[in-house]
Amino acid sequence: MYLDVRDLTKTYGTFTALDRVSAGVDEGEFVCLLGPSGCGKTTLLRVIAGLIEADSGQILLKGADISGMPTRQRGFGIVFQSYSLFPDMTVAQNVGYGLKIRGAARDRIRKRVGELLDMIRLPHLADRYPGQLSGGQQQRVALARSIAVDPQLLLLDEPLSALDAKVRAELRREIHSLQRELRIPTIMVTHDQEEALAVSDRIICMNRGHLVQAGTAEELYLRPQTRFVADFMGRSNLLGIEALARVAPGLAAARPRDGADLACIRPEQIGLSPDPDGPARVRELEFLGNITRIGLDTPAGNMVAEVSGHSPVRPGDRLSLSISSEHCAWVREDAAAGAQ
Ligand code: ATP
Repeated sequence: MYLDVRDLTKTYGTFTALDRVSAGVDEGEFVCLLGPSGCGKTTLLRVIAGLIEADSGQILLKGADISGMPTRQRGFGIVFQSYSLFPDMTVAQNVGYGLKIRGAARDRIRKRVGELLDMIRLPHLADRYPGQLSGGQQQRVALARSIAVDPQLLLLDEPLSALDAKVRAELRREIHSLQRELRIPTIMVTHDQEEALAVSDRIICMNRGHLVQAGTAEELYLRPQTRFVADFMGRSNLLGIEALARVAPGLAAARPRDGADLACIRPEQIGLSPDPDGPARVRELEFLGNITRIGLDTPAGNMVAEVSGHSPVRPGDRLSLSISSEHCAWVREDAAAGAQ
């Protein structure tokens, strides 16, 4: 592992913000720390940055212990949620700041700043001040400033959360492609699961100071291990054994005997066919443009299915359901997974 975090614990008085968290980042990897508000993701990022000291645990960078090293010496690039540019410096001065304090020659700074402003597509704004930029432009400048000094690690603390939806999606794509190009190992904090799914090589999902599951976007979405991850990573139908047996007896019989006793079935993975004798009845429909979400009354209780585009079904229609075993993930209640 390029960055290896081992058993980090951080308490505030009697409150445990991080509880023996171990995680890592590989060379060139884009990792998201994902979880609900207050789960400890910012604390973890700040401990990695050296802005907060952990009570115990270790941080290794390329095998060397940096746990006690001051922030500045770590050589990391950091972008915060709030725009943190120097207000009395121009865009070019902001971007070149790190190089300047490292004593780089003026020509070298000018050349590098030019390259970075091209990269973030703002070369025409070099002489503006931060107060004359939009939020999205300010965050792009903050990003350029953080990568100007070739950081060993890029730490992004909810860099998109203050932006409106459209700018947010645009900048998300830019950050993603910039990271792909430069291959700087990156950790981004977010509470937005769609954002994490869109950019991550790997997602570290946290809850209440614990790491609950780490894996690729596909693994977390299609193979959640706990109720918490299944719920947090999008919509799902979570059915106990008895309920599942009423709509998919074959699947219930094939349950693995490993303590996981909830079936997680994603709404788009339920096959629907019109059937006057079918066990499911359409309760409500939501047309969302690219998909239609269908609320169903079934012998297993309320379920939700999604089909792409427009659906011809109407409230009251009866349907039969089909769910294949590859589309059914078995998950544990959170307490058994140590997530509480
Ligand atoms: P958010 O998405 O809301 O920023 P988060 O997952 O990043 O949440 P953290 O900021 O890491 O959460 O905080 C984790 C927990 O630690 C929270 O319950 C928070 O109230 C608590 N906490 C953070 N800093 C302090 C502090 N200085 N003193 C006491 N408690 C703190």
